[in-house]
Amino acid sequence: MSEQPAETLTDLDRARLDLRCELLTSGLLIESSVPGLYGRSGQFEDIVDGIDRVVRAAGPGSEAIRLRFPPMLPRSDFERTDYIASFPNLTGAIHSFTGTNADHARMLADRSEGKSWDGYLEPADTMLVPAACHPAYPMFTGALAEGGVLLDVYGYCFRNEPAVDPARMQAFRMHEFVVIGDPDTAANHRASWIDRGLQVLDDLGLEATAVVANDPFFGRAGRMLAANQRNENLKTELTIRLYGDLDEGTAVVSCNCHQDHFGATFGIETSDGSVAHSACVGFGMERIALAMLRTHGSDPRRWPAGVRSRMAL
Ligand code: ZN
Repeated sequence: MSEQPAETLTDLDRARLDLRCELLTSGLLIESSVPGLYGRSGQFEDIVDGIDRVVRAAGPGSEAIRLRFPPMLPRSDFERTDYIASFPNLTGAIHSFTGTNADHARMLADRSEGKSWDGYLEPADTMLVPAACHPAYPMFTGALAEGGVLLDVYGYCFRNEPAVDPARMQAFRMHEFVVIGDPDTAANHRASWIDRGLQVLDDLGLEATAVVANDPFFGRAGRMLAANQRNENLKTELTIRLYGDLDEGTAVVSCNCHQDHFGATFGIETSDGSVAHSACVGFGMERIALAMLRTHGSDPRRWPAGVRSRMAL
């Protein structure tokens, strides 16, 4: 939670706190001791499942290879994505105990004295998944079949950004449609999903805007990466105003072209032997659910009939 005294809260801070309080009081989300980490109620999951029906209806269906990964990926794959260079502050690593009985006894003694004990843990071979599509790329090292591949990936992502804003969760789901293929296929995938994504949101009764965006690259070198991403028009976000005109809106869908980043990193080639390009569209399921609650009210039984029927609620 923010340590700011109440009088320094901005209107935006108050609006975020109000929404958070509403979601917790209604039981839709379940509070934990860590900001941005929530349990989900059955009713919240029904909303997410309903949104997913509309997302899938707009998606490639059986043309895509459907893949589901756990929320962890091998550290070796994580390293190859270069995520640690661009987003060290958002990274999540898994650690565990590999010591001896004597080490264990020392750890428990420290713990019982209220001292920190995590220094006894060693990095494991796994990291938390930062983006749903990342675990898929290592599968395609080598030459792709003609036309490339189209993937449907749905899973939990982790970003270390504790925040009061319920739209900024630390663990959340992305449903992604990913292509790996030639440069035109990747560029077209990103571009075509701007309109298709807006249509999905319109089908859900949500008013969204497409904006050119960049990832939150870390540090001074990151500012250049961010500028390149914007200049080359590689990322478009579909945003919804959860807090009226208090901010620029919240990104609920992201359309990204990675150019040859993952192709080069994971040694993926097109059928003619050139480095593959990739692109993905990601639907932020929890954020879309919050936008639904914000737009249509906290009781899904009273949402517009057309929206309820598309969601099969
Ligand atoms: Zn992705």
